[in-house]
Amino acid sequence: MDEVIKAEELFSFTLGESILEITYIIASVLFIVGLKKLSHPDTARRGNIWAATGMALAIVSTLVFHKQDGEHIHNIGWIVAAIATGTLIGTLIARRVQMTAMPQLVSFFNGMGGAAAALISLMEFPHISPDLIRAHGMFNGQVLVILLGLMIGSVSFSGSMIAYGKLDGKISDIRSGLLRIVNMALLVLLVAFIVYIMSLGAVEPASVMPLLYAFLAISLLYGISFVMPIGGADMPVVISLLNSFTGVAAAMGGFLYNNQVMLTGGILVGSAGTILTILMCKAMNRSLSNVILGAFGGSKADDSGEAGQIKEIGISDAAVLLNYSPKVLIIPGYGLAVAQAQMLTREVDHKLGQNGVEVHYAIHPVAGRMPGHMNVLLAEADIPYDKLLESEEANEQMQDVDLAVVIGANDVVNPAAEEDPSSPIAGMPILQAYKAKNIIVMKRGMGLGYAGIENKLFYNDKTRMLFGNAKESLQQVLNEIKNMD
Ligand code: NDP
Repeated sequence: MDEVIKAEELFSFTLGESILEITYIIASVLFIVGLKKLSHPDTARRGNIWAATGMALAIVSTLVFHKQDGEHIHNIGWIVAAIATGTLIGTLIARRVQMTAMPQLVSFFNGMGGAAAALISLMEFPHISPDLIRAHGMFNGQVLVILLGLMIGSVSFSGSMIAYGKLDGKISDIRSGLLRIVNMALLVLLVAFIVYIMSLGAVEPASVMPLLYAFLAISLLYGISFVMPIGGADMPVVISLLNSFTGVAAAMGGFLYNNQVMLTGGILVGSAGTILTILMCKAMNRSLSNVILGAFGGSKADDSGEAGQIKEIGISDAAVLLNYSPKVLIIPGYGLAVAQAQMLTREVDHKLGQNGVEVHYAIHPVAGRMPGHMNVLLAEADIPYDKLLESEEANEQMQDVDLAVVIGANDVVNPAAEEDPSSPIAGMPILQAYKAKNIIVMKRGMGLGYAGIENKLFYNDKTRMLFGNAKESLQQVLNEIKNMD
């Protein structure tokens, strides 16, 4: 009889474990497919749902089937309550957030991921396997994984909070040489902490906790001082780098718990973030070390000099120019997001299309305030993806463009990147709107872009400024074009 029970126990144990392993594999596949779908605007929404389903599956099956020392997870009530609270808060924030505050929200959520990974390390340190400590002292893989997870997660958390503040305009860059020295010192200190803790020999983990808290504090400080000096046009690189940090920190948790789905999820986020960082560096024409060590043109350029005369254009002239230009290229920027003018842009595009005008869009990789910002906006307005041109393709055609319409873009069309080696954006490939036959710039006034520098495009002989909120200007231009029928 006893044997029958044992066999049943054994069977139920292995069955539960097998189900857990299988659901982890399914969840990992859902993550990968979701990520693939996220790479195209048409399928991005579905991609999100696929990946979220994978995560839900992984959570539920862990709660139901995971066993430690032969026992199921305790505290299910608390865990479910925490998940429900997090879900509620997340849903409310995501629903209420203004489209323009989306980049900040993405940074905030990324920071939360880093914080979660750091907390895992903090919680797990006192539970390092005594067998491991007896055999190898503190010099073992588990300690290394915990320390790395704590450091990278905390840097990601505090760095993302600073990025949040910068995107929200609440924190400005501090670009001092001293800060860079402090940065290097903190990094060296962090490495020294890791080496020291790992060299401690066979000690009780609880006795190392004060050191661990100091390590946490320095990591948090490093996250702040690391992001503080990087700013202006280099923010996209930092944001994607922090994104990859969160992924790597989560992957450390996967190693720690020997949990495949956490590992896969972390590695996917980490590698996607790394690829994005490389792409952003390429878009800015900078090396990563150049961005991090801050060799980006130093202070903001001197904007005091007179750049020349600007020429304004009225609504009806703008409408005529648009309606009678055979080839129009729209260059959207952050101002399009602020004005929420994407729907009206599509309407104008549609009307021009009916009147025989060929309309395309030129998308700069760092336009807006988050990677892919313009793609998201235009996809929201159902603007066909095949109308979007990447920077290089758009620049190749620019000479043949009869009218470039710059809607709320500034830095990404600023010729200073090509002409002024002392400019903070020197070397950044821009959309060469200045090469088009005519240029209309829609913006509210002479406000600067994120990099905070003057733009000579606005003073170009071929440029006409259409001042006003982009949405209102587009509405008036649309009405005018309709009146021409
Ligand atoms: P910019 O920030 O350079 O310029 C936006 C322009 O939009 C402003 O000059 C502003 O002028 C105008 N604007 C604002 N509101 C409106 C409105 N309602 N209607 C019309 N115009 C408006 O934008 P870009 O997209 O050209 O460049 C993006 C910048 O942000 C780059 O420097 C990039 O590096 C940086 N960045 C990008 C991130 C990313 O991941 N993509 C992240 C962080 C920073 P005015 O006030 O006169 O209207």
